[in-house]
This record gives sequence, C-alpha cells and structure tokens, in this order.
Amino acid sequence: TLTAGVLAVQGDVSEHAHAIERAARNHGRSVAVREIRSRGVLPECDLLLVPGGESTTISRLVHDEGIDTEIHSHVEHDKPVLATCAGLIVFGRATGRVETLGVLDVDVERNAFGRQHDSFETALDVTGLDEPFPAAFIRAPAITNPGNCAVLARVAGRPVAVRQGPIVATAFHPELTDDARIHRLAFFDGPAGTQ
Ligand code: GLN
Repeated sequence: TLTAGVLAVQGDVSEHAHAIERAARNHGRSVAVREIRSRGVLPECDLLLVPGGESTTISRLVHDEGIDTEIHSHVEHDKPVLATCAGLIVFGRATGRVETLGVLDVDVERNAFGRQHDSFETALDVTGLDEPFPAAFIRAPAITNPGNCAVLARVAGRPVAVRQGPIVATAFHPELTDDARIHRLAFFDGPAGTQ
C-alpha cells in the first residue's frame, strides 16, 4: 500500500484523495491517504498532492509549519508530486507576494486568464493521454517561462501543464471530474512513476 499525502491547508482535499484512490485502483494498487497540516507527516508519504486554493495562504502555512524543508527532501528523493493551480504557483520561482519554494523551474503569472475567462472548462490535449482531458481552470495561473520543464499542455499557446523530474504541475484542477488520468500520469505512468 502506498501512502499519499494531501497538503490540507485549503482547497479540494477530499477530491484529490478520491482521485488518487481511483488512479491507484485503475493501476491495481491500493493507497492510504493522509492529510498534511503540520510537519512529520510528509516524510512518511510516498506521494504528495498539493491542491489549489490561495497561493499566499498555502505558502505561508507551508513555511510556518516547517513543511517546506520536508517538501525539498521529498523532491530530492525523487518521490512524485502533483501540484495543481495554487500548488503550481507555490512550487515555482518567486512571484510577487508569494513566498514560493522554487523547486519547479517555472515563472508563473497568477490569475493569468483575465476576468472574462476567470473560470472555464476546456477539453485539453495532454502529452501522454490518448483522449483530451476535461480541464477546469479557476482563477488559474499560466506559465510564462517553462524553464527546463517538459510542457505537457497549452491553452492559447501558454503552458498549463509541465513535468520536471518527479513533479507534475497543472494550472487547472484535475481533481474536479471523475477522470483520474492526470493523477495516474503523475504517480504511475511517468519517469518518477511508483511501480
Ligand atoms: N488565484 C489563485 C492564486 O493566485 C489560484 C487559484 C486556484 O488555485 N484555483 O493563488
């Protein structure tokens, strides 16, 4: 049984828990989900999920609780991560008011899709998936510079999903539908896949 940690500051914690359970089941594995609110939990986890929410709030808790050093060590040990929306921002390079972790080699623009397109859903072509993914964008960031990351998907030419080593990060919310293929891609199918 794998242990999956979901950073549980805010955001779709239970939806991510269900998605990783579904992805594991599809892959013939079982998974135990733990919620991460303080230090000491992540070192016992094989996988990490970072939901969306407000990146300023999430990054503050991560630093105040000392979870930041545990995240660095998780990534250094090549353990897989899926960071979504605000999670992408927190993992990226410095951006304005957010104290980021800088583990992902991306520059990110927050709320990049403008008022008219605050929230939208689109069928997204994603590298590694046979069929388009129903991707929900909610006050989503865009990646302005993907650095050394492999770009997995774009909207209007802007990268919205990337992979770098054990980390997959998306500007959209892959946990909001029954489709667990992004979780499967992040945790079971990729180079850092948990076999
Ligand atoms: N707009 C949020 C931020 O900048 C992210 C939105 C989300 O995670 N859905 O932190």
